[in-house]
Amino acid sequence: MDKLWKKNLRDIEPYVPGEQSKEINIVKINANENPYPPSPKVTEAIRNFESSKLRFYPDANAFTFKKAMAEYFNTDAENIFIGNGSDDVIALCFQAFFNSQKPIVYPDITYSFYPVWCRLFHIPYKNYPLKSNFRIDIEDYKEENGGVIIPNPNAPTSLGEGRAFIEKLMEYNKDSIVIIDEAYVDFGGYSSVELTKKYENLIVTGTFSKSRSLAGMRIGYAVGNRELIAVLEAVKNSYNSYTVNSISMAAGTAAINDKDYFHKTVSQVIATREKVSNALKELGFTVLDSQTNFLFATHKTKNMKEYFEWLKTQKVFIRYFNLPKIDNYVRITIGTDKEMDRFLEKTTEYIHL
Ligand SMILES: *Cc1c(COP(=O)(O)O)cnc(C)c1O
Repeated sequence: MDKLWKKNLRDIEPYVPGEQSKEINIVKINANENPYPPSPKVTEAIRNFESSKLRFYPDANAFTFKKAMAEYFNTDAENIFIGNGSDDVIALCFQAFFNSQKPIVYPDITYSFYPVWCRLFHIPYKNYPLKSNFRIDIEDYKEENGGVIIPNPNAPTSLGEGRAFIEKLMEYNKDSIVIIDEAYVDFGGYSSVELTKKYENLIVTGTFSKSRSLAGMRIGYAVGNRELIAVLEAVKNSYNSYTVNSISMAAGTAAINDKDYFHKTVSQVIATREKVSNALKELGFTVLDSQTNFLFATHKTKNMKEYFEWLKTQKVFIRYFNLPKIDNYVRITIGTDKEMDRFLEKTTEYIHL
């Protein structure tokens, strides 16, 4: 007979991130990481970090970092929350804000971590299907709910919505907390941060993992009215007061202050994205109009699962989701021009096989 204590083990299906390969010489464009290194100011901050300071606990309130963030977003430190990656921030938001008996709502095709957190925290949830063009149908979000979370731009579709859409969403959801997950916003999306001053039930989350090349540092944030931020702090401090380490805060502060480098690398990713998108279209792909650092594409005659698997044999790693409605699509992260040339070369070879 099975040991009785086994009944007490948590049975949960985790989120599966894009593979990290140890192989060298691969083109790794499967996890929406930035192909460029972080700002030289970040390197400098890490190099100058006094390791003797590591014997102290970090500032649980991340004050210096929050001040820099507040300046960047033209708001106050009390409107900023900092976490250990935006996954940490969003998970804390779920616990802080989604305590209704009613289901929280989000699109059927979206960041696949949301249902995982709902199950982990016992939050009821419900999906609304995207329209056939992969756009969100705003009218679905009129229905009563226990909270809303939408990535804008959405992933893996790469499509973004503008201010009018968000304002309508807020108009339809006066009684719920609305989270906008802006993981990709810096690559050409509309940011709702300005609207957090207008709507007190709106909270915007973001990350340093993509547009600031710091996925390995684990830095995420939320911007919202001070009451929401205070509740987030209280939930964090009920779990682990020190989610962000001292080195990450020093690196994050340096990154947010280096606007020139940020604009330079983001513009480069966007320029490469447009070039690759056009090249794929010429090869018979349908490519969605991306506002992110990745492309979501399908092909009129080729099977995308086979394409994905074949590319892997050629040491080019993209992402494929074996999920309803998108099982003939692939997600391609924008790498350096050199990496994308290699990707296009291999793709051309595959199309003509
Ligand atoms: C990458 C991503 C995140 C999480 O990023 P972190 O590395 O945890 O900061 C959150 N939401 C979406 C939609 C993402 O793509």
